[in-house]
Amino acid sequence: MQQIQRLFDIDPWKITTTTLDKENRRLQESLTSIGNGYMGMRGNFEEQYSGDHHLGTYLAGVWFPDKTRVGWWKNGYPEYFGKVINAVNFLAMNISVNGEQLDLAVISPEDFSLELDMETGILTRKFTVTLGGATIRFTFERFLSIVKKELAAIQMSAQVLSGEATITVVSKLDNNVQNEDSNYDEMFWEELNKGTTNEMSYLTTRTVANPFGIEQFTVTSGMKHNVRPVTIETSPLAISHTFEFQVAENETITLEKEVIIVTSRDFDEPKQVTAVADLFADYGTNYEQLRQEQVVAWRKRWDLADVIIQGDDAAQQGIRFNLFQLFSTYYGDDARLNIGPKGFTGEKYGGATYWDTEAYAVPLYLALAKPEVTKNLLTYRHNQLPQAQHNARQQGLKGALYPMVTFTGVECHNEWEITFEEIHRNGAIAYAIYNYTNYTGDTDYLKTKGLEVLVEIARFWADRVHYSKRNDAYMIHGVTGPNEYENNVNNNWYTNTIATWVLTYTLENYMQFKDEATIEISEEEQAHWQEIIEKMYLPYDEELGIFVQHDTFLDKDLYPATDLDPTDLPLNQNWSWDRILRSCFIKQADVLQGIYFFGNQFTEEEKRRNFEFYEPMTVHESSLSPSVHAILAAELGLEEKATEMYARTARLDLDNYNNDTEDGLHITSMTGSWLGIVQGFAQMKTFDNTLSFAPFVPKDWEAYAFHINYRGRLLSVSVTQADVTLTLLEGQPLAITVYQDNYLLEDTLVIPVKH
Ligand code: BGC
Repeated sequence: MQQIQRLFDIDPWKITTTTLDKENRRLQESLTSIGNGYMGMRGNFEEQYSGDHHLGTYLAGVWFPDKTRVGWWKNGYPEYFGKVINAVNFLAMNISVNGEQLDLAVISPEDFSLELDMETGILTRKFTVTLGGATIRFTFERFLSIVKKELAAIQMSAQVLSGEATITVVSKLDNNVQNEDSNYDEMFWEELNKGTTNEMSYLTTRTVANPFGIEQFTVTSGMKHNVRPVTIETSPLAISHTFEFQVAENETITLEKEVIIVTSRDFDEPKQVTAVADLFADYGTNYEQLRQEQVVAWRKRWDLADVIIQGDDAAQQGIRFNLFQLFSTYYGDDARLNIGPKGFTGEKYGGATYWDTEAYAVPLYLALAKPEVTKNLLTYRHNQLPQAQHNARQQGLKGALYPMVTFTGVECHNEWEITFEEIHRNGAIAYAIYNYTNYTGDTDYLKTKGLEVLVEIARFWADRVHYSKRNDAYMIHGVTGPNEYENNVNNNWYTNTIATWVLTYTLENYMQFKDEATIEISEEEQAHWQEIIEKMYLPYDEELGIFVQHDTFLDKDLYPATDLDPTDLPLNQNWSWDRILRSCFIKQADVLQGIYFFGNQFTEEEKRRNFEFYEPMTVHESSLSPSVHAILAAELGLEEKATEMYARTARLDLDNYNNDTEDGLHITSMTGSWLGIVQGFAQMKTFDNTLSFAPFVPKDWEAYAFHINYRGRLLSVSVTQADVTLTLLEGQPLAITVYQDNYLLEDTLVIPVKH
């Protein structure tokens, strides 16, 4: 097992430290990111910092198509790679004291503290420095409003502890920013306009032209302060207000900066400056009031979503951190958006939308948000059906192929083994339609939009399979399964399974709803699908009693990951890619992903055999991996394994398990800790229109509790070592199953825990 790296203290509600870790500044920045679904930023400092760090502010849905760069162009590659781009740095407040620059990279502060309060979404930093002969206590506080999405608020105060100080602050809107991963150090922004009106300064920039016909985004940012500036200056792509404070010993000054950002996603460019001014007028600039609203709004989110763990503060902090960051990225308010793997915390993975949303995020949003939120996520894919059809055509195939990475629905991932081969992603899109329908009981979406998506995905699979005469079976060759540590494999069990399931589910629902359906499947096509379903080849090993990951997996040199030299982990940072591909080591759940999705179709024995065979070879180097294993281990009564996997998913970023959190947080896998508790420890299942539980509490915990929405009800579930207590908080009585016994939940049920 590789080393963990823990920079912040254990605290149930806070991400807090008293160390300014200059060596690991990027990691600290990732872990103190904040967002409000509309925009977000890494935990950069307001003032100048000359040490190694990664400046990053991102606006939801604002992106750039960067020309695909590959060594050898292959037909079918997309022309561009869509990437989240670094946007205007509105945080900037360069500070000097008696003419000396405040830069924590060169001077060491005293009494330093950095604290992200997850209960309120407020980030605070305090420290004392001696500069230019004065000793000053600085306090910075900031938040991105979840009530007024275009608004960011920053408060800086400086208390002179000794000496006298002239404190100069240069507060900026600065769009001189680049992406670390841009081709040839490109600039993605050009300036259109800037100016000052009634104490507000504004800056309008536009993403530079691209040859792919993708819209250029315009962004206007405006800033206001509580104090009049001495000067206002402009420079290319920036505007700044300079403030000067003469501060005597024991005096404190406070500078507040409110920022409004609007984009061409909501306002055409000519209207943007007025929109910013109107929003300032509407929202007001009373910092304390805005702050108070923020506190109340986060409280409301937590009232529904909080998972309370007693007896393990590290686990408690982990799940809260994940829920906090997830909701900071996406809370379902805007149907045009999706959930990027790094959210607003970094640039890696570029795109906004992956199969992660359907496979890992949908279950959480189903339980912790109104059904409309998940419906928005489904509608997002329905709106992109034409682009998914385009992607299939790019590969010379029929139907629709949903992309691996995208902003618009057009594929923008450019590695053949993923773009062309990791097609299992298409199944997850269909699975989410099933999940929504089965969880909510609402068939309206399925009957119309859902079926249109399902039929086109089914057509893709029907074209992508081939018939093997020798075996009288349908097969799918040349794929990459969820385990990206093997490419170009034949008959990946998971891919073949989900393809068959899509055909089956689509046919079943078409038969049921065909009178209302907006799409037709000819009888001939139906018969062909039926034949594929019946004759799909699903690799199975009789002797081991397991589903085989793909045709030649069992011929590999098979040995457990525990036999690896721990210094080789993570493999993807220590082994050559060639060695990884040839090895038996599995990046993330593959066969087990299928067993998890279709849990009602396998016996406990089948689940156990497959888990015991594959898990030991799994290195969990995708952050998506541990949660599925936690859920299955819990179901199989492997409590220790389940708890280990829970810890790994819950504290993946806080403990930097995969040694890559400095690049940004693993947002889409942050649902994993919630899944680990709710679907794992509490064994919540919703198969076949029935809500069921079979909870246990990990031995080192005392208790845990959570809420879920389910079919118009709100339930609370609380589990101690002794009892499970289920309470119906809202809605009609509900038939539920607990440890396989049936109950009618009318108000509260208390059932002893079974081991
Ligand atoms: C995983 C994929 C995932 C992607 C984005 C990769 O490392 O293997 O399954 O979609 O990350 O999270």
